[in-house]
Amino acid sequence: TSEIIETDAVVIGAGPCGLFAVFELGLLDIKAHVVDILDRPGGQCAELYPEKPIYDVPALPIVTGQELTQRLMEQIKPFSPKFHFSEQINTLSREADGRFRLTTDAGTEFLTKVVIIAAGGGSFTPKRPPLAGIEDYEGKSVFYSVRKIEQMRGKDVVIVGGGDSALDWTLNLAPVARSLTLVHRRDEFRAAPHSVEKMRKLVEEASIRLLIGQVAALEGANGELSAVQVKTANGVESVPCTAMLPFFGLTMKLGPVADWGLNLHENLIHVDTERFETSEKGIFAIGDINWYPGKLKLILSGFHEAALMAQAAHRVVYPDKKLMFQYTTSSSSLQKKLGVK
Ligand code: FAD
Repeated sequence: TSEIIETDAVVIGAGPCGLFAVFELGLLDIKAHVVDILDRPGGQCAELYPEKPIYDVPALPIVTGQELTQRLMEQIKPFSPKFHFSEQINTLSREADGRFRLTTDAGTEFLTKVVIIAAGGGSFTPKRPPLAGIEDYEGKSVFYSVRKIEQMRGKDVVIVGGGDSALDWTLNLAPVARSLTLVHRRDEFRAAPHSVEKMRKLVEEASIRLLIGQVAALEGANGELSAVQVKTANGVESVPCTAMLPFFGLTMKLGPVADWGLNLHENLIHVDTERFETSEKGIFAIGDINWYPGKLKLILSGFHEAALMAQAAHRVVYPDKKLMFQYTTSSSSLQKKLGVK
């Protein structure tokens, strides 16, 4: 898209701290767009431990990563933030009028008065299988995520991995692929038991194949795969393949944040503890991505940082407006914004 989105705030990262930032900004009439590389909200809570309980979120004695995400989404609903998932913010620069221009890898452009970097441990990046020449096929016949199921129709699909993503995509793509082979190094899976059961049923019905082994080499030309060689206990087998989907998990890398000219402290963004502002006025950093003396990488710290950041962002977005401190319990204007009055 070539459309330019003009807004008050862009929040980079839809982890718990980015989500709560939308709430604190919203109370102060600051409208936000939220961008995340992942295809859904929650950051580490959603990607790394959706089912694990968290015990130290104030007033929630026990809450899973997924539940916390759902509750935050519910809490920020009144402010109807616009989400841009499966997109990475690549560039950030200042315009002559003082606003910031941000661009994503999908071509979305923003012009915004303030930027809130809530990028956590950085960009979630798929782990690349150690196969010679795989870079040449990426985006053409090797995919680390599926944006549209239709894209896989009529293909000879090979899915590699044994976790939830591998199993989910095996089940989803089995009906549209011309052939589908699931390759995993052992006959044990780290996925939801009912998905594993369904997969085994498809194998029994001969709708799909399960190969226990490892992809050892790729065959093809000009970015188009024709087959993959799979090393099994019985030797090497060439499996027809026009689309390979490796699901080896995600790692977090700092990514483009490092290129934005901000003062860093051991790969974290240095901020003050009054405004949580970076070395660049109007660019704030909250949550796991920031650093200051005494910083704790806890969700509750990020929530506090979001509240103070919003006060400071207000001065940038509305330089002529005076901010009155108000409680949500007693302020009818805040309650109006929350849609409870
Ligand atoms: P994150 O949750 O890391 O989210 C950042 C998001 O930003 C990511 O989704 C990422 O994709 C996105 N992003 C980064 N760069 C870009 C870019 N350039 N463009 C677009 N998107 C980008 N904390 C607790 O308080 N209590 C606990 O009990 C607890 N248990 C934990 C258990 C585990 C196993 C782990 C891994 C962490 C735990 N934590 C816990 C830590 C907690 O998850 C983090 O403190 C919290 O997730 C930080 O939130 P965040 O919003 O700052 O960043």
